Amino acid sequence: MEALAMETDKEKVEAEKETTEALLAEGRVFRPLPQLVVDANLDPNDYEDALKQGRSDLEAFWGEAAQELHWFKQWNTVLDRSDAPFFKWFAGGKTNIAYNALDCHVKTHRKNKVAIIFEGESGARERMTYYDLYRAANKFANVLKSLGIKKGDRVAIYLPNIPEIAVVMPGCAKIGAVHSVVYGGFSALALRERINHAEARLVVTVDGFHRNGKVVKLKEVVDEAMTASPTVETVVVVQRSGVEIDMSDGRYLWFHDLMDGEPAQFETVEMDANDPLYILYTSGTTGKPKGVVHCHGGYMVGINRTLKWVFDIKETDIFWCAADPGWVTGHSYIVYGPLIAGTTTVMYEGHPLFPGPDRMWQIIEKYGINILYTAPTTIRMLMRFGSQHPKKHDLSTLRLLGTVGEPINPEAWVWYYENIGNQNCPVMDTWWQTETGMFMVAPTPCNVLKPGSAFKPFPGVHVDVVDANGEPVDPGKGGHVVVREPWPAMLTTLYKDPEKYKEVYWSKIPGAYLAGDIATKDKDGYFWFQGRSDDVLKIAGHRIGTAEVESALVSHKHVAEAACIGVPDKVRGEVAKAHVRKVLGPVVVIRGITFQDKLPKTRSGKIMRRVLKARELGLKEGDLSTLED
Ligand code: ATP
Ligand code: MG
Repeated sequence: MEALAMETDKEKVEAEKETTEALLAEGRVFRPLPQLVVDANLDPNDYEDALKQGRSDLEAFWGEAAQELHWFKQWNTVLDRSDAPFFKWFAGGKTNIAYNALDCHVKTHRKNKVAIIFEGESGARERMTYYDLYRAANKFANVLKSLGIKKGDRVAIYLPNIPEIAVVMPGCAKIGAVHSVVYGGFSALALRERINHAEARLVVTVDGFHRNGKVVKLKEVVDEAMTASPTVETVVVVQRSGVEIDMSDGRYLWFHDLMDGEPAQFETVEMDANDPLYILYTSGTTGKPKGVVHCHGGYMVGINRTLKWVFDIKETDIFWCAADPGWVTGHSYIVYGPLIAGTTTVMYEGHPLFPGPDRMWQIIEKYGINILYTAPTTIRMLMRFGSQHPKKHDLSTLRLLGTVGEPINPEAWVWYYENIGNQNCPVMDTWWQTETGMFMVAPTPCNVLKPGSAFKPFPGVHVDVVDANGEPVDPGKGGHVVVREPWPAMLTTLYKDPEKYKEVYWSKIPGAYLAGDIATKDKDGYFWFQGRSDDVLKIAGHRIGTAEVESALVSHKHVAEAACIGVPDKVRGEVAKAHVRKVLGPVVVIRGITFQDKLPKTRSGKIMRRVLKARELGLKEGDLSTLED
């Protein structure tokens, strides 16, 4: 009996393996699922029309998208190019993103609908309706007013993934203050640098939160940052974990005390479409973080349209973007995007592996989540723990999956598709940046997908792959990723450094925005992102992206993750060459392989190849403030 059972298991495993191989077979594509197409927000026929209109009449396309939202005053011009590259979207228009995210809903049937589901690491759940959130954001706007914060003042938010951050962010927006969220995993030094650069007058933080079974005492980090943050007048402290903290410094005030004293009515300030909404520093994968500025008008139009079409978001959805609000992904697609769309957004406080490797699957089952959006680094990590974990849970509510942050290797894509989506959920690979604010290259559920490709530019977005002169490259050839036309959620400048904004993004390829990534387009026009142009390998005249080599290494069953750097050395290593050679051909020569338990990553989970390269070549390591470990 036992032998028989073993035999069957082995057969099962073999059968499974075959499926995976078939799914991964060369040229394999994934056709849209009929049941998704029928209900899609963007009908496949309309997709073609949208593409056409996005090409022929950019302004009409985005002008229509903007009509979906609330404006106190209609714009005069959809796109004012007169001060390029400081493009002004919806110039003359007056709006407020928080009005669209909250005030609009409380006048409708959504008033009593759940806006936020919060899952604490302990498993405790909290829910806030749109009306709860609206009242809280109003109170917080009143708190800011009472503390003397005015339109245009900067507020630093050093909070983890807890509901209060979704109160504080729109609360700032309501009064016209500019928020600068600093990821809760950053050190005191990184926090202080960001506070001082933004000259924040106020900081919002929390006593502590739960991560990996421990209480992270965030307020203590703020104490350290405060020793040299001269612009800060007030620190508002949210009480959540209940750990004992020292509040004796006159600058510290409790959030709940302040909130209790304020009315729940606030008249949301009318903002110019191009007034700043927030500053957000980039992840620092390629160098010192840049202070990206986004505004109210164009930004909300861009995130709303992309969320509705790419994730096909419906009011009835429970949407889980498993990022942190400290990154642009969280700004656009945990907080503002889902709230504007009137859907339910999920926030999880803790670590994805706490208390075990099935925590994420358990959360999906518990809340009946419909859409999961996460990063390749998380998918690869969970993949390493095996498919037995998702199998223990009912994931049948899922309709769509998404990924962002790094190129996803086809193995991880297929694992995600098979084991999490049960072959019923297309994987939306979304390429974008802190600077772009919104998805730029991404499919919709109506498109034919290829694992490892982020599909094509979103309608109305003009991304291309070009050579150093700005000429399009042939299919299969690597080149620079550029955007040829402005897009609504684009950054408006780099904070306090407009010259650098021009220099970094708009000076190298004439008339186009330079993203700093390299990619190839295949003969069908699909984009394959290859990594950063700073990291590109130049081997015997061939330009090869790190992603290509890393994906080849990761496709070996004993490799969980890989980082590849170019070294100026002619010596040809033999180690493990066979596998990479088999996948990529003889051009790619591996000089050497070092095995490590962990790769250097940013706190947002991106591999920092520049750190490996600096160590290998004995160069300066540069800014390490965003390094995870
Ligand atoms: P810095 O600009 O400081 O180096 P960063 O570029 O890592 O930091 P982000 O804006 O968080 O900061 O990351 C954007 C980058 O992430 C993109 O430029 C790209 O390299 C990578 N990326 C994001 N999504 C994808 C994706 N779907 N496929 C491939 N790469 C992606
Ligand atoms: Mg970048």
